[in-house]
Amino acid sequence: MPVYDYVVVGGGTAGSVIASRLTEDPSVRVAVIEGGPSDVDRPEVLTLRRWMGLLGGELDYDYPTTEQPRGNSHIRHSRARVLGGCSSHNTLIAFQPLPSDWDEWETAGAKGWGAASMAPYFHKLRNNIVPVDEKDRNAIARDFVDAAQEAIGVPRVEGFNMQPFHEGAGFFDLAYHPENNKRSSASVAYLHPFLDRPNLHLMLETWAYRLELDGTRATGVHVRTKDGEEVLVEASREVLVCAGAVDTPRLLLHSGIGPKADLEALGIPVVLDLPGVGENLLDHPESVIVWETDGPIPENSAMDSDAGLFVRRDPASRGPDLMFHFYQIPFTDNPERLGYERPEHGVSMTPNIPKPHSRGRLFLTSADPAVKPALDFRYFTDEDDYDAQTLVDGIRMAREIAKAEPLAKWLKREVCPGPDVTSDEDISEYARKVAHTVYHPAGTCRMGDSFDELAVVSPDLKIRGLEGIRIADASVFPTMPAVNPMIGVLMVGEKCAELLASTTAPGGDA
Ligand SMILES: Cc1cc2nc3c(=O)[nH]c(=O)nc-3n(C[C@H](O)[C@H](O)[C@H](O)COP(=O)(O)OP(=O)(O)OC[C@H]3O[C@@H](n4cnc5c(N)ncnc54)[C@H](O)[C@@H]3O)c2cc1C
Repeated sequence: MPVYDYVVVGGGTAGSVIASRLTEDPSVRVAVIEGGPSDVDRPEVLTLRRWMGLLGGELDYDYPTTEQPRGNSHIRHSRARVLGGCSSHNTLIAFQPLPSDWDEWETAGAKGWGAASMAPYFHKLRNNIVPVDEKDRNAIARDFVDAAQEAIGVPRVEGFNMQPFHEGAGFFDLAYHPENNKRSSASVAYLHPFLDRPNLHLMLETWAYRLELDGTRATGVHVRTKDGEEVLVEASREVLVCAGAVDTPRLLLHSGIGPKADLEALGIPVVLDLPGVGENLLDHPESVIVWETDGPIPENSAMDSDAGLFVRRDPASRGPDLMFHFYQIPFTDNPERLGYERPEHGVSMTPNIPKPHSRGRLFLTSADPAVKPALDFRYFTDEDDYDAQTLVDGIRMAREIAKAEPLAKWLKREVCPGPDVTSDEDISEYARKVAHTVYHPAGTCRMGDSFDELAVVSPDLKIRGLEGIRIADASVFPTMPAVNPMIGVLMVGEKCAELLASTTAPGGDA
């Protein structure tokens, strides 16, 4: 096995960006350890509208959550096991984080990550980011946008990435190719054009199970290949951990990097006591309200949830504090567990919490690297009940939108929670029990300054207390952006690549 300059663990959203940028220099040798297979020539992955078919399938690591006393204990967290990671599986809704999101990171100790510093990375992205194409704009989604404007009094937004916003209704920007509905995922945009680079070595269906350390310096990664062979892949410059918000802390913990008492309790030898690993587990939970429609709705769509709404209830909030996806399908998977029935034809609005107050935790339950970690999101456990109240406000607002034309004429009846569920208490109970995730786990190896005891990486993405190793993926998010996070993850990848280039440039510290 040759020694590489860089070993990237995870050829996912951020990992694809970093591997692509590093191998632009032909003298730099990069190995990418990717747990899943290639996405090349796989239409079930590359066709955006087929995303739901991947949920829970063979390309999904499919993580359960722990018991959620105030929420829905049945939530499964899809995490893609394929080149491109979750950008090969998701709905590719593409928002650059708002200036207030980046500035919040800087205030939280991520020096150099404020809005002004981060803006240029959005323009570096190779993905094809475009508004939902006219031919994909379903008539009922158009009418939702008009009704939301009418009922809530928000402006219509054409091009959510054109300027910062606090509220608005409109069709999303997506990272896709409208002519054939092909994804413009991280792998499609950053790896497919460069697969013949001799300095890029992809190790597919290969699982990293432990980091190799020489004292405090990371020197490589222990992996199990597709054929079951155990190999050490060595890095002469750096190891870059890009395994995502679940698998990055999981790999660190199995390597003895994490809260000392937890590791000792499982008999994992402690290499570095880093109490923040696995803490600060963030997500964007949402609930659902479903209507039966008067007959079928038109078929055309980019991915069945093409439009949405942002609201700022609190004028003092620096960004939106309530968001909705509009689904052109009756999304009753969770309500059915409470006894509701799926109508033959229907639509859904999903009130979502842009800035949830509850914080969760990821931890190991076994020293065996094959055992999935426990994900305790602690949904709706915040002291002031802000998260649940956001969903209650959302359901009330959704009902106002449903009453407004031109949407009202499509809708036959509210299926769930149903018109009889009217008190705050009852709406909250329903909304929490049927809550689902939009699959945005983040924050489990958060970035912060040296005063932040729970920070895992410093603002240059280096793991505190170690050398030769950085993390770049959704796990470094100190706080959750108010918008969908994928573009933020791609920008973390671009910034990491630039940090690496500046380290090896003449005068850098390598
Ligand atoms: C169904 C779904 C819908 C979503 N919709 C949207 C959306 O519309 N817009 C949006 O902004 N965000 C969306 N998200 C969230 C977004 O996709 C993620 O936040 C983002 O892609 C995470 O990127 P990452 O680089 O942190 O991790 P990932 O992209 O998950 O990359 C991690 C990679 O590491 C690999 N890996 C993990 N562990 C190991 C290991 N030990 N050894 C080897 N390889 C390993 C995995 O196979 C994977 O390829 C969605 C997510 C899902 C799942």
